[in-house]
Amino acid sequence: MAKKIQAIRGMHDILPAQAPVWQFLEDQARAVLERYGYSELRTPLVEVTELFKRSIGEVTDIVEKEMYSFEDRGGDQLALRPEGTASCVRAAIEHSLLDQPQRIWYSGPMFRRERPQRGRYRQFHQIGVEVFGLDGPDIDLEVILLTRQLWRTLGLKDLRLEINSLGDADERAQYRDALVGYLEAHFDQLDGDSQKRLTTNPLRVLDSKNPDMRALIAGAPNLLDHLGDTTRTHFETLCAGLDAAGIAYQVNPRLVRGLDYYNRTVFEWITDALGAQGTVCAGGRYDGLVAQLGGRPTPAVGFAMGLERLIELIDTSRIETGPDAYLVAVGERAQADAVRLAERLREQIPALRLLCHCGGGGFKSQFKKADRSGARVALVLGDDELDQGTIGIKPLRDNGEQRNVAIDALPEALTDFARGGGF
Ligand code: ATP
Ligand code: MG
Repeated sequence: MAKKIQAIRGMHDILPAQAPVWQFLEDQARAVLERYGYSELRTPLVEVTELFKRSIGEVTDIVEKEMYSFEDRGGDQLALRPEGTASCVRAAIEHSLLDQPQRIWYSGPMFRRERPQRGRYRQFHQIGVEVFGLDGPDIDLEVILLTRQLWRTLGLKDLRLEINSLGDADERAQYRDALVGYLEAHFDQLDGDSQKRLTTNPLRVLDSKNPDMRALIAGAPNLLDHLGDTTRTHFETLCAGLDAAGIAYQVNPRLVRGLDYYNRTVFEWITDALGAQGTVCAGGRYDGLVAQLGGRPTPAVGFAMGLERLIELIDTSRIETGPDAYLVAVGERAQADAVRLAERLREQIPALRLLCHCGGGGFKSQFKKADRSGARVALVLGDDELDQGTIGIKPLRDNGEQRNVAIDALPEALTDFARGGGF
């Protein structure tokens, strides 16, 4: 036998049995985004590597260790996108979308060469939002409200919100000095990674996931103490908005996020139900990024959520799978006619999800397949029914009696069935 080829580690097939929950999540998200007036933007999966280096930052986990970058046959340095924001900004500048405020969303796979584990994959999926051209705390509030609305729609409880303000660039520079002073005084207690970060990207030390570093980080100077009046007011107005909207949140002064482009508001939605990989949604402001990528200075705010992590939280029992009906055909003529009849039924009843048995077989084996398909009714066609112009309807789940109706009366009969709670 020929050697089997397997999928790449950390990159997963989404099988037909899992697809309904993905579709549920994507459908609900799209519906919520439309309710808030956001428009979709689709960008390529591959961009020049430079785009991510300049936006995410050279000294970040993503750019240093995780990017799938390569030289293409023409000698260009390209990368599979590790996240969506940089591409959205690139596209928005390229197509002059930034003359007016824009509310944009995107969805799709992202690629990072991390160590695969629960909640952490090498190809994973995000839905994200980017708003351009609005600089007030009102839009920060809107994007957070939008996420809460989505959790409600998905039936997710027990997500907690953490927020922080990173200040503006000069405030952060000032804070950076204070932090470096503190960390240098405790240099011996820093782990290897943090010792490196101290010179390259000291704020990232606060983001360390090493439990041994926790006490040290807890004693570090507080970023919020370094905010100026404008950024402080921005943050306080957001907090007041969250209070008024009845959203519980925790201010976490150590929340810094792993990408360099953020400023002012940052936030994460976190669950305790998934172990170490508990952040399901993360975002914030990035007012400097558009200019940094060559556009006119444009304030911006956005977030991205990790679909694999959200999928784990969704209660799948409320998600319908399988067709409504399964067409069973026994008898030579009925079988020869089944696909054509099924086609006619689909035309008559466009909302009907009808799976037509193919490949022959006896009554019993066809019914077994009908059961396994998850359909609620079997439509039964035999040669007798064919001669009489009728068709049998047999409920599959509550073991009801089969009754025969004229084929022309089937749409009504099925509507009745649906009204009776059948569909
Ligand atoms: P983490 O701290 O978990 O590494 P991050 O800061 O790298 O997250 P972002 O780049 O902000 O994450 O991405 C937003 C969301 O995308 C995360 O909160 C998470 O839900 C999801 N995500 C990020 N990386 C992965 C991954 N490798 N596999 C699955 N989901 C991911
Ligand atoms: Mg990460």
